Amino acid sequence: MTRKRIAILGATGSIGTQALEVVRACPGWFEIQVLTAATNAEALIQQALEFLPKVVVVADESKYQEVKEALWGTSVMVMAGAAALEEVVQHAEVDLVLSALVGSAGLRPTVAAIKAGKDIALANKETLVMAGQLVMDLVHKHQVSLLPVDSEHSAIFQCLVGEDRNPIEKIYLTASGGPFRGKSRDFLSTVTREQALQHPNWVMGAKITIDSATLMNKGLEVIEAKWLFGLQTRQIDVVVHPQSIIHSMVQFEDGTIKAQLGLPDMKFPIQYALTYPKRVENSFKRFNFMDFPKLTFEQADTDTFHNLALAYRALETGGNVPCILNAANEMVVAAFLKDKVGFLQMSDIIEETMEVVHRIDTPSLDDYEDTDRKSRAIAGELITKSNKTYHIVK
Ligand code: NDP
Repeated sequence: MTRKRIAILGATGSIGTQALEVVRACPGWFEIQVLTAATNAEALIQQALEFLPKVVVVADESKYQEVKEALWGTSVMVMAGAAALEEVVQHAEVDLVLSALVGSAGLRPTVAAIKAGKDIALANKETLVMAGQLVMDLVHKHQVSLLPVDSEHSAIFQCLVGEDRNPIEKIYLTASGGPFRGKSRDFLSTVTREQALQHPNWVMGAKITIDSATLMNKGLEVIEAKWLFGLQTRQIDVVVHPQSIIHSMVQFEDGTIKAQLGLPDMKFPIQYALTYPKRVENSFKRFNFMDFPKLTFEQADTDTFHNLALAYRALETGGNVPCILNAANEMVVAAFLKDKVGFLQMSDIIEETMEVVHRIDTPSLDDYEDTDRKSRAIAGELITKSNKTYHIVK
């Protein structure tokens, strides 16, 4: 058996560390060629000493010396800076790139990997949200596999195995509803960062945890699903399913629905993306139906959680508008995590940014990056103006 040679972008994050657990759980299946981090030199060094990749990249250049010294005498090459991420994914000895950076930082390295003909396991949904058309065009042009890691998209992908080209009527993306499911806007106006970081079912990085609390994560997933599965907006529904056991569903033209189920544990979809098309034995905890005698479903509340409605609007408007939504969202989430905006103000600021930034029909990569910069600048001004009392005046 030839081992799959993988590069993990964002190895020190929630997805990255779970991917390394999968690698440990499947001995003989993988060879780690590249590991990267932003600033967490300590974790990157530990990982490098354990897996001895060809190269590690620390994006924060000020950490270069620390990593270099710690890996002195090993075979591991150390690189630093954002540009190095684009370089290492093109390495001849890489078969598959796990894109698990958070936010817009994922776009350029993922595009570089696709252009170099590498298969992609995609966790970084922001790449498709920002530049879905451009990325999918490149995927087709370079004939690479784009394998979803997000549990919902992995579920859809797994439901489609064996269906050849049977048309999809619609898909149902399930959502846990986050920590504030069923709460009123009054309640949400006072919630804290600490409350928002308590996800009921999943343990994830800070940004996606806040996105889950605001339902923006589901909005980003709706956009991601459109591109991954070539769907129209009206074919993508969201169903709140608080137990997070059904990871998503596909309804075919004959009315049949296929669902994929399991425990809310990201190691399963990560492993499927890494071992695809094979299924490999592991000893991860198994699902027990008796632990979940009731699986329940609710409508998503887009009046209270306005971000989901904004994401649908961005998708319908098209062009660079999802990129505007994504950039403004990254800004407000970072501000919320620093206690600089309130929970409800986040969607107000995103909406206003979407109204202000110039729309482009068919953006190039440079246009997307320009849109990202401008949207961040505008959202940043609105955040400063808001000073915790900001309310959009219509
Ligand atoms: P984390 O914040 O836990 O990890 C992000 C990783 O990327 C870390 O290794 C971090 O390094 C690195 N990183 C962050 N910013 C930069 C940057 N500017 N340049 C280079 N490297 C950077 O995120 P998650 O693992 O939670 O999420 C990663 C992606 O996967 C996101 O797009 C998320 O939406 C998606 N996803 C996550 C799920 C989850 O369960 N966590 C589920 C489904 C999708 P450092 O550690 O040094 O900061």
